[in-house]
Amino acid sequence: MSEAALIEVENLRTSFAVGSQRVEAVRGVSFSIAAGEVFGLIGESGSGKTVTGLSLLRLLPPHAAVAADAMRFRGEELGRLSDAEFRALQGVQLAMIFQDPVGSFNPAKTVAWHLQHAIARRRACSGSASGSGGGDWAEEAAQDLRNVGIRAPERVLASYPHQLSGGMLQRALIAMVIALRPALIIADEPTTNLDNLVERQILELIRAQQKKLGASVLYVTHDLGVAGEICDRIAVMYAGEIVEMGPARDVLERPRHPYAQGLLQTSASLERRDEYLYELQGEPGGRGDATGCAFAARCPQAMAQCRTTQPRLVEVGAGHVSRCLLHEQ
Ligand code: SF4
Repeated sequence: MSEAALIEVENLRTSFAVGSQRVEAVRGVSFSIAAGEVFGLIGESGSGKTVTGLSLLRLLPPHAAVAADAMRFRGEELGRLSDAEFRALQGVQLAMIFQDPVGSFNPAKTVAWHLQHAIARRRACSGSASGSGGGDWAEEAAQDLRNVGIRAPERVLASYPHQLSGGMLQRALIAMVIALRPALIIADEPTTNLDNLVERQILELIRAQQKKLGASVLYVTHDLGVAGEICDRIAVMYAGEIVEMGPARDVLERPRHPYAQGLLQTSASLERRDEYLYELQGEPGGRGDATGCAFAARCPQAMAQCRTTQPRLVEVGAGHVSRCLLHEQ
C-alpha cells in the first residue's frame, strides 16, 4: 500500500453473534486512503459498507468481533492501542458524520453546548493553552457555523436540536466535526434524508471543508450519483467483499464487475424515469454458496465455475481491480 496513505486496512473481517452462530458482515476487505483523498464505499443495504466504517472507529456493539491483518492510521497499528489511547483519536483525529444528525445531538442541550464541547475536546487532545474553558470558543463556534453556510450563527447556537430543520441540523453536525479538525472523516450516507437541493448543498459543503482542512474522507453511500460527485476513488461492496475498486470516473463510466454494471444500469434507469425500471434480480445480501462467487445467484453472466471457484481481485486498469472470473479467462 502507498506510503502516503493516511489509513490502511488489510483483510478486515467483522462478524456478529446471532444466536449460537456468527454471521460475517465484512469478509477480507482491504483498502487505503491517501491524505486529502475522498474514498467512497458503495453498495446496497447489507453489503457491509457501514459496518466497515464502524469497525474502523470501534463503534460496533459488544456482540461484534473485528479482526484484521492490519489497520494503520499514519503508520500506527490501531489494534495495538488501548481503549483510552483509541478514545484520544476517536472523535478528534477520526470523526464521523452519521446519516441521522438527530442521534448525534443531546436533545436537552443547545448547539452551542455541543460545539463548545467539540472545541474543548480538540484543544484538550492537542494540548492547546486555551484549554477547555478558553473564552474564545464562542467566536470559533460561530465561525465554524458560518463556514457551513449558516448566516445567523447566534440563533443556531442558542437553538436546541429539535428547533432546527434536518438540513440545518446536518450543517450544525458538519460544523461540529469541522471544529475537531479531524484527519479522517467517516461520512455515512449523510445526505440520505435530505431533499435534492439541500443534498447538493451539503455535498458541496463537505467537499469544500474537506479541501480546506486537507482531511481524508471515507464516504459511505448507496447512491452512485452522489459518489460520482464527491469521491476520488470508490470501492463497490457486495456481501461483505469489495468486488470492484478504482478511480471514481473509471468505475462509474466503465464498470467491469457484473454487480457494479447492474448498479449503474439501475441508477441510469431511475434517472431516466423509465416506465419499467431496470432491477438487479434476486435479493441482496449473504453469499448463498460459500465456495463460489458471492454474486453467482444474481449474476446475469454467471457460469458453471462461478458456483465452485471464488474469484479474486484482478487488475483491469490503472489502479482499477475487479473480482470476477470473467477477467481470469
Ligand atoms: Fe458473475 Fe461469475 Fe463474475 Fe461472479 S465470477 S460476477 S457469478 S461472472
